[in-house]
Amino acid sequence: VDIKKDSDLMQIVHVTAEMAPIAKVGGLGDVVSGLARACLSRGHKVDVFLPFYECINKQHVKDLALVNTYDSYHDGSWVSTNAYRGVVSGIPVILVEPSNHFFKGQYVYGGSYNELEAYLFFSRACLEWMQVTGTQPDIIHVHEWQTGALPLLYWDMYHHLSLKKPRLVLTIHNMEHYGECSKEQFSKCGLDGSIYATEEKAVDDRTIGHNPERISLLKGGIVYSNAVVTVSPTYLKETLCSGWLAGTLIRHREKYCGILNGIDTGMWNPATDIFLPAKFDAHNIEEKKTCKHFVQRVLGLASEGHPMGSYAPNKVPLVVCITRLVPQKGLHLITHAIKYVKEIGGQMVVLGRTSDSRVEREFEALADLHNNGSSIRILLMYSEELSHMLYAAADMVLVPSIYEPCGLAQLIGMRYGAVPVVRKTGGLADTVFDMEDQSQPEMGNGFVFEGIDEASLNWALDRAFCYYREKPNEWSAIVQKVMGIDTSWNNTAGKYIDLYKSVRVRE
Ligand code: ADP
Repeated sequence: VDIKKDSDLMQIVHVTAEMAPIAKVGGLGDVVSGLARACLSRGHKVDVFLPFYECINKQHVKDLALVNTYDSYHDGSWVSTNAYRGVVSGIPVILVEPSNHFFKGQYVYGGSYNELEAYLFFSRACLEWMQVTGTQPDIIHVHEWQTGALPLLYWDMYHHLSLKKPRLVLTIHNMEHYGECSKEQFSKCGLDGSIYATEEKAVDDRTIGHNPERISLLKGGIVYSNAVVTVSPTYLKETLCSGWLAGTLIRHREKYCGILNGIDTGMWNPATDIFLPAKFDAHNIEEKKTCKHFVQRVLGLASEGHPMGSYAPNKVPLVVCITRLVPQKGLHLITHAIKYVKEIGGQMVVLGRTSDSRVEREFEALADLHNNGSSIRILLMYSEELSHMLYAAADMVLVPSIYEPCGLAQLIGMRYGAVPVVRKTGGLADTVFDMEDQSQPEMGNGFVFEGIDEASLNWALDRAFCYYREKPNEWSAIVQKVMGIDTSWNNTAGKYIDLYKSVRVRE
């Protein structure tokens, strides 16, 4: 696609704990890469600051080179720190590597270091780098609690030093984690924690169980940023109505807005995807069947010509669910769907990872129960490659979340011709509209249910299966329709650009 260049160009810096594909755990990584790439294509200058996690595969970073060694403050001393530059799928990155134990370990999260302190360090080390190199972007875009302290450090420290120009934007991708810490712990970044322990600044303002001792980095980020974004209009409303930060968000309502995430259509494109055994697009969905057969064969699921039992082509929809296995994602509905899809003669593949051993045991037991049969596979791992293949193979993508700030699985699924079956909440409510909703029939692009009970889910699955089996022509039309919906960043990055422009300082 030919992207129009913007005329009024800015320098934008992202400071983030995740970036796809080198350090991705969930949607945050996708969003940072997708938005950064869209802004680059419009002609803006974009850099992404990321901790140099030990688990990053250096081979995935092009032109990796050490550019500076400098000192950044932590807990009473100065830590020698390396900054590397490189390029990740076309996006310039700056990888920050302290010489201490921070960011060591096998995974992005869950290392044996103190995560909160490591991200406090990282937030300051990015500003320190800008200070020592004289870099003054128009916008510093921070994400989640991990980099929530950066706006405080900026306004109360670096802005008094040499950083004058940057303005701060915070995106909240998920309100689940607030980045809570004690005053003492906060002080390790070099700001006096006791100054921030007020309700106007960064202290927890929940009325029930109010804890004046706890500072929240996310709250600090909201108070100190020039603009605050969350990832869908419906989640914006939900966060203003409930949750302990609702009061804070209402107080800062004039600078708080909802901008729906897009997907990176360069990374997620069934017509060019290197992970797929056959490529397809909205005008040629035949090859999608090849992907389905391939996945069925590779996973040992029943398919045409498979020795296990009879297989009726066009009667056995494949449902996939690709997700972090955490309570937010509707674990009881996922486990129920496994049982129910089998019962009504479909196939289902769950690709999920969890760091909770209780959840892991529960899904392992389900895997033991089902994985030898011909209709269900439960794969407890993280695999980028498999996720691409599964979206391409799927007839339906299930997203039964209890809450969902935006959700990318339904958007990616649609791009790959998998019809979404989702619970009506947050960003799912903004992107998926029921096929049978008579009030807006032209919007219909999936199957939606509202309750968090099993019967509600059954009802949506029953209707989707019925469409798939009884109305094959209409089903093909839905598949083509969902593939044609433009949920790319090209569409929505403009909203971020307008927001950046509204807060930046003109020279
Ligand atoms: P969240 O950010 O809450 O995890 P999103 O739907 O916004 O949820 O984004 C999830 C992203 O992570 C999607 O790109 C999805 O494909 C990917 N993902 C989740 N679990 C896995 C997994 N086990 N293997 C590969 N990709 C996964």
